[in-house]
Amino acid sequence: MGAESDWINMGGECAACDVYATFPKDSQGYCPKNICFASYHITYSTSCPAHAQPIGNPCTCDDPYVPDPTKTSCVLDQYSLSLQISPGQVEPSKSAKIIAKVIDTLTGQPKEGVTVGIKVDVDVTSGGHVHGESEAPRGKGTLIPATGTTLADGTVSFTFGAPEVSGKHSFTAQCDNPTCTNNPITAEIKVMVDGLSTIPGDPSLYVLIGGEEGKKHHDNHYLTDDAKSQLVVLAINYHFLYPNQPVLHLNDASLEWGGLFDFTGNWKPGHHEHKRGTVIDIRANEATGAVPFNNFDRFEKIALDAQINADIHCTSDKIDHQGRKAPDCIGLDGSQDSNRHYHIRLMGVAE
Ligand SMILES: [Zn+2]
Ligand SMILES: [Zn+2]
Repeated sequence: MGAESDWINMGGECAACDVYATFPKDSQGYCPKNICFASYHITYSTSCPAHAQPIGNPCTCDDPYVPDPTKTSCVLDQYSLSLQISPGQVEPSKSAKIIAKVIDTLTGQPKEGVTVGIKVDVDVTSGGHVHGESEAPRGKGTLIPATGTTLADGTVSFTFGAPEVSGKHSFTAQCDNPTCTNNPITAEIKVMVDGLSTIPGDPSLYVLIGGEEGKKHHDNHYLTDDAKSQLVVLAINYHFLYPNQPVLHLNDASLEWGGLFDFTGNWKPGHHEHKRGTVIDIRANEATGAVPFNNFDRFEKIALDAQINADIHCTSDKIDHQGRKAPDCIGLDGSQDSNRHYHIRLMGVAE
């Protein structure tokens, strides 16, 4: 078997490899070379390779085997699967197209009719949710359909519905029929709000709070660049007005990649807004560093002057059992809500 055995000696005659025609030996007693124009048959010298029978001339691969590119052995048709995700990230609650493509690795041609199965998974602590699944299982988003069949161009597409929570998701796909040589394969997508970065430390203007040890989210101060500029204006003006009082104490803004900020770690709606890097909470209760009640009016005025929307939020937006409700959250007994804070829309609009 091999490249030099394009012809074989069959007694007084020589057999061409691809046709039944015979040729006489030359004057030295050898079969003539270069008469073979094998296309799909395997040539052999002593016996047929595995998965082939001496049918035709000289060997024919058993179905479903086919000759390899050198036509020296019979191999199963080989397919290769790839996944295309463009552009590799998607906003929370939006959808993305995942395209699987199958090609025949022997011919390079797309393969129609291949069943491709796919599933989605999630890195449970990604997107700044260090709590992982300590409180509840994390949603993976939706992926439709779960299996599909390749079209004439070798592709089949799936739709990923991103959850409200940002993070890293992965897809695992495999050809079920026929088998691909690179089964299974995976690809990743980031569910994220683009363009957020953390608020730089500046103790002369503000103090960052809320990401302490034991909290469900340690990295809680991400904003857009425009929102950061607005925050600095607010902090400078407040400090200018009250130079001898504590600077603003900044609690939760957005997570690293934005998306739902489930401050209790249960993947359910928690903070209202705080998803797109334009909202931040500022301490305004009786704790250390809070904007004191007596400063509320002037604080709201400097916010308004910078076209920033500053609303007092309490534990509940309804009147609680002690009668506390925004805008001041002071109860019938004069007590203040320990959760009271300013919910600041830095760009002046709701997210
Ligand atoms: Zn979380
Ligand atoms: Zn808030």
